[in-house]
Amino acid sequence: MAKPYLSIVVPVYNEAGNLENLYSRLINVLDNYGKSYEIILVNDGSRDATETILNDLHNRRPNHIRIVHFNGNFGQHMAITAGFERARGEVIITLDADLQNPPEEIPNLVRAIEAGHDYVGSIRKNRQDTWFRRHASRLNNSIRARITGIVMTDQGCMLRAYKRHVVDAVIASKESSIYIPALAYSYASSPTEIEVDHSLREAGESKYNLYKLLRLNFDLMTGFSLVPLQIFTVFGIVVSLLSTLFVVYLFIRRIFIGPEAEGIFTLFAIVYFLFGVTLMGLGIVGEYIGRIYKDVRQRPFFIVRDTLDKHGN
Ligand code: UDP
Ligand code: MG
Repeated sequence: MAKPYLSIVVPVYNEAGNLENLYSRLINVLDNYGKSYEIILVNDGSRDATETILNDLHNRRPNHIRIVHFNGNFGQHMAITAGFERARGEVIITLDADLQNPPEEIPNLVRAIEAGHDYVGSIRKNRQDTWFRRHASRLNNSIRARITGIVMTDQGCMLRAYKRHVVDAVIASKESSIYIPALAYSYASSPTEIEVDHSLREAGESKYNLYKLLRLNFDLMTGFSLVPLQIFTVFGIVVSLLSTLFVVYLFIRRIFIGPEAEGIFTLFAIVYFLFGVTLMGLGIVGEYIGRIYKDVRQRPFFIVRDTLDKHGN
């Protein structure tokens, strides 16, 4: 069977109310666009009617629609990874199932790829999220850009296009705490960003609460930077240096002026010095553990329970 030109990868978690609409809008855009395509829908352990609906969609278009059912909820980025592993297209596009990213933007993304870019990010025009989400994400963007050096105007928007070689590199990265757009960005040689429309969620509610968003951002920070650990080390060094000066000062004072109140501050100086050294030591150990931790975990990242797929499993 010939490989399609486009692979559309969609993570799906409890989206029963959106799938019918997503299906018809995707099919409509892609059929009219005229390039060969496949749509890979990854069910990330949904507990609503998602599974039945997905199976039905597959039966309607078995050559176009490929379904993967996870054994549990492994997260949006794992669902996309599973889709990437199966994608056969030359250009791979990710989008959300809730129709916040209009499928009608797909041709614009592909156009940017065809203009020579291997990664096309997106910036949401008139972003339809709460005030809190918009401002939290602005703050987070600036911290991330400083700590990781990854420049991404709008990290939350998943409507993105990648060339085959970028997706291959993402798959080859055996990392469990993966943040796909950032990883892909780091492998791309000619990244770009375009503006896309953004809508309100069609049905259901956001699957990200504050805690999940925080965890996602920890993945992003630790996955792309050792700066948090390094700050710790630098802090330890500064404390050590300052307390060394303090010890020297107290020593000289003791010779010329005499002991201060029963030597208690000398004791403080020594304790602070040791405290600084301990912090620094902890920081250095942390540097190593951080690196080892990143490499040694070899747990399976997700478990596939079932697939409905004419092009592989
Ligand atoms: N999603 C998923 N697994 C999860 C959480 C979300 O596959 O554990 C999917 C969800 O179905 C949607 C996309 O990831 O297609 C984005 O989720 P959501 O719309 O809830 O995030 P938000 O738009 O609020 O950032
Ligand atoms: Mg959404």
